[in-house]
Amino acid sequence: MSENVTTAVLEEWVRKFAALVADNRDHLTELDAAIGDADHGSNMDRGMKAAVAALNETEPTTAGALFTKVGMTLVSTVGGASGPLFGTFFLRMGTSFGDSGTTTPLDFAAALRSGLGGVVARGKAEPGDKTMYDALAPAVEALDSALSQQSQLATGLKAARDAAAAGRDATTPMLARKGRASYLGERSVGHQDPGATTVALLLEAATESAF
Ligand code: ADP
Ligand code: MG
Repeated sequence: MSENVTTAVLEEWVRKFAALVADNRDHLTELDAAIGDADHGSNMDRGMKAAVAALNETEPTTAGALFTKVGMTLVSTVGGASGPLFGTFFLRMGTSFGDSGTTTPLDFAAALRSGLGGVVARGKAEPGDKTMYDALAPAVEALDSALSQQSQLATGLKAARDAAAAGRDATTPMLARKGRASYLGERSVGHQDPGATTVALLLEAATESAF
């Protein structure tokens, strides 16, 4: 089993995610223009820029404090569906880490699963509803499965990234059953889900960090 995960690398992950969201803001907004209201890129970029600003102000010393701060910032700065959903995801991760000063790869995987649970509790998404869940759930499964086979965390995160990307791609033919896109009914078919696309960026950012 690989070494403990430092709060510094977790913060690196959050910052890399913010940078990827900024780079992909227009793309995310275009995806949302097709099946929503064209604000997903600007929503996530505003939220993650605010999260980075909050981290620049005071650097959290524990994983719990880090993700609680990111989650609270997203909830308070982003309206729409994605603020509460991504906010709850990070808040639940923070709660899962708690006050502990050390984080193992298994703690990390458990926190990610807890974050997924928060998304479900908040948005009631089920598999195949064409939401961020459809990228996040396979990523969580892939990481758990890799770690149960004694893989290093970095290897598990690559598997999670690939699973999230496949999950993102699989949303294209789906009919949306949750969120704004569901108002379109059949017309939502044939478009990639914006939130699932952001989740793929989140896992991409993890593989670009020094886990
Ligand atoms: P809004 O839909 O309020 O404009 P965004 O455009 O920022 O918010 O986010 C849209 C994304 O939120 C969708 O692409 C989808 O992935 C996600 N989403 C919407 N509703 C739900 C839900 N109930 N459960 C999980 N994810 C959802
Ligand atoms: Mg939108």
